Amino acid sequence: MREAGRISAHALRLVSASVAPGVSTAQLDRIAEEAIVACGATPAFKGYQGFPATICASINDELVHGLPSENRILVEGDIITIDVGAIYQGYVGDNADTFAVGAIDPLSQKLIDVTRAGLYAGIEQCIDGNRLGDVGAAIGAVARGEGLGIVKEYTGHGIGARMHEDPSIPNWGTRKTGPRLRTGMVLALEPMFSLGGDRVERLGDGWTVVMSDGARCAQIEHTVAITEEGPEILTIDTPT
Ligand code: MG
Repeated sequence: MREAGRISAHALRLVSASVAPGVSTAQLDRIAEEAIVACGATPAFKGYQGFPATICASINDELVHGLPSENRILVEGDIITIDVGAIYQGYVGDNADTFAVGAIDPLSQKLIDVTRAGLYAGIEQCIDGNRLGDVGAAIGAVARGEGLGIVKEYTGHGIGARMHEDPSIPNWGTRKTGPRLRTGMVLALEPMFSLGGDRVERLGDGWTVVMSDGARCAQIEHTVAITEEGPEILTIDTPT
């Protein structure tokens, strides 16, 4: 799972280096697929429930599951969430980040910064003996503290030999409630915050989920193992 996480992070890093005005989301998809295949892994999303691509590329008010397209060209001031996963020797890694396209407005930057802070607040709670509610409570408190919307229809998830395993991990919750976290569990935490409300809807392409109020949103994700030494982020691109 460390290697699956590393490859997923490697692909995300290569894609992020190419995010710029004038680039199509299909170009970004090809970069991710080539990176994953070159590592001897396979894209986790391609073919998953029929999804046609290696990355989800979701721009501005698009939350998740945006379809890469030659016709979707990044514009200065956009924000884009790239979600990408890899399967390596039967195990899955999953990660996402929201990137600025050139210079972005201060509120969009705040959205990205607070979503990342929410992710790390959740990761800090990934400790043996804690409860699942401690994770969601920590993530949710960060969003509420900054007045951001918390999407309720999508959550993080357990991950292992399958991409989506139990438990689902809400980005809100109550401390000291829910299942115990134990060493050896691996969780994909993925806060999804917005500059507006929490309502979402799916576009006519059958995939892209957007904020109903058109507000910008961000999604940042790491795959995290609970170890005896505490949380270990697996989606880190470091040489092994
Ligand atoms: Mg995920």
